[in-house]
Amino acid sequence: MIRVLIFNEYLHEKDPGCKASEIYPNGIHGALAELLNSEEDIEARTVTLDDIETGITEKILKETDVILWWGHMAHDRVPDEKARLVHEAVLNGMGAIFLHSAHKSKPFMRLMGTSCSLIWRESDDLERVWVSAPYHPIVRGLDNYFELKGEETYGEPFGIPTPDETLLIGWFTGGEVFRSGCTWQRDNGKIFYLQPGHETYPTYYDRNIRKIIVNAVRWVAPTFRSTDVMDCPNPPKAHKF
Ligand code: ZN
Repeated sequence: MIRVLIFNEYLHEKDPGCKASEIYPNGIHGALAELLNSEEDIEARTVTLDDIETGITEKILKETDVILWWGHMAHDRVPDEKARLVHEAVLNGMGAIFLHSAHKSKPFMRLMGTSCSLIWRESDDLERVWVSAPYHPIVRGLDNYFELKGEETYGEPFGIPTPDETLLIGWFTGGEVFRSGCTWQRDNGKIFYLQPGHETYPTYYDRNIRKIIVNAVRWVAPTFRSTDVMDCPNPPKAHKF
């Protein structure tokens, strides 16, 4: 079983004036949990800003194989200590998937060490998402490209360290392009960033996006975990000549 923890700040969906409340009546985390729990080899739990204090702890992260992160308007309400715990858990081997506006979340920025800045616009552009690494397990089952009828436009320059691999490239009818699906290895942990997923579009119900997320959970799941990668061990000589 792959044990998944989904973090969502869960604010837009509770605002009756925001379209997100109609699209995701149980929250974005609810839609993602329903998707992942329908897979036989995955069990997903959720945590929001309301219960982050008890929902993200060292013990819970040790029992988590993959964390998903969605945040937007309240990155600063995530305590630094929680971001530190997630960062260290990833270095130890936990997989992490950062969704859409999580590019500015504290744990993602810690893991990247860069601005993670980008250009953006809400103008109902269509997005054509091109698969640039068709051999990769995360894009298994996708065609050469797929389209999302509406998405928030994200554009380059994207202030990230050069990804290990860029799996998806988004093109928008406004003319922008964006590295929409990227992977990084950080010590023992695998990281995937996926750009589509603005809260006012039904992106997380799109069959291609759902395929990517399920594939990504399996791909970032740990193959090796350390108990404390932050230690610098001081062993005796491995061999005496
Ligand atoms: Zn957005």
